[in-house]
Amino acid sequence: MSEERSYATCRLSEENRDHPVETTILALYKVLLEKGDVDAFLTFTEKKQGGGMQAISVEASTDVSRLDHLLFSQYLVAGLPRLLSIPKVIHSQLRGCFDKKIALLARPCEIEALVELSKRNQIAFENLFIIGLECPGCVSLSDLLTAAKKQGVDPSKIEYCEMTPSEVAIRETAGKSVVLKLDQNMKLRECCTRCSYREPPICDVTLSAWRRVLSRNPTILIRPVTERGKSCIESAKTQGSLIAANDSELSEKGQIDSTIRSIEKNASEELAKENEELAKLEGNQRFKHLKGMLDPCTKCGLCIRACPVCWCKDCILLKKIKTIDSLLLHATRLVHMGDTCVNCGKCDENCPKGIQLSKIYYGLAVELGKLTGYKPGLDLVQSSQRSGKVILSKG
Ligand code: SF4
Ligand code: SF4
Ligand code: SF4
Repeated sequence: MSEERSYATCRLSEENRDHPVETTILALYKVLLEKGDVDAFLTFTEKKQGGGMQAISVEASTDVSRLDHLLFSQYLVAGLPRLLSIPKVIHSQLRGCFDKKIALLARPCEIEALVELSKRNQIAFENLFIIGLECPGCVSLSDLLTAAKKQGVDPSKIEYCEMTPSEVAIRETAGKSVVLKLDQNMKLRECCTRCSYREPPICDVTLSAWRRVLSRNPTILIRPVTERGKSCIESAKTQGSLIAANDSELSEKGQIDSTIRSIEKNASEELAKENEELAKLEGNQRFKHLKGMLDPCTKCGLCIRACPVCWCKDCILLKKIKTIDSLLLHATRLVHMGDTCVNCGKCDENCPKGIQLSKIYYGLAVELGKLTGYKPGLDLVQSSQRSGKVILSKG
């Protein structure tokens, strides 16, 4: 079977027509649970009743009949709020999944962070069944809510939202829909504009859900990557919840792929531009520029606590944070983990001073990668040049 012909899509009924992405994912989770391939899957729940879009938590569940559509769609459009991220849930909440098998949906940058954690024996990657999202990027939740309010949408009445590379669509409880273009008021997070890895680097199946703004015909396509991914999709087809993609969906996928290539190319250029601008500065000027970016830092530590590749239980920097200078704090942190930064943007999102840390950290990781050949998060084999394994191998 050609790779193209292996694409499947979900069979939609009137009941689930409004939620094609969730329907597809639940079809896979159901098969995985029935076959005993996983013990549970990750799902999004309200932290407290009536918490709405701000208060979201991630839990391991086995109940395929229940899914909070609003929170699920919020994850697809605006990621997870505050310190929460899929890698943190796997690492901390689920203790690395060493004793349980979990199915999950994850974005490329989240998978990259899971890969980095796995290389440091912090999680059992083999116990994860990953549905990897082809990622259109995401926006900040506060920008989304502000833009929605400007269009007369009451945030408490939002029941669903969707994202494509150029717009966000919102549906209210009364059934009214509003489409918000990405612009100066609500733009992609800065890390997403420089992200040139929009396809999952490692996963069991890929999920492509780029064409689904409310009233249009959605094209939700999944493709097996591993043998267990293939077996899961084939079982769902046998059950009738998934069907083979038709010719028009496959031809649309061709267009989506060329859009992805062009977004990735633009993002690479954006990143190269950022790094070239920095490289143009003479040594002392460059130092002043970076110092200027970091000057507002109040040493609150949130960037460290939010970072999915920072895993030390006993972080020396958090312990000493009150007594060290903010520049030293970041210089030390760059030495500790700078080469593993996956550009997820959780540090930017959590910094109360709005410092664009990912620009510094990921910029360094990319420049180091040019010297060492190490690309964080892209494969499970390559080791960082500062890992004990590599240092010892060099005698
Ligand atoms: S950094 Fe890349 S993978 Fe992560 S959310 Fe943004 S576009 Fe998606
Ligand atoms: S430093 Fe920032 S962008 Fe890099 S992995 Fe950590 S949180 Fe993500
Ligand atoms: S989150 Fe911002 S203010 Fe807090 S320590 Fe990090 S850079 Fe400094």
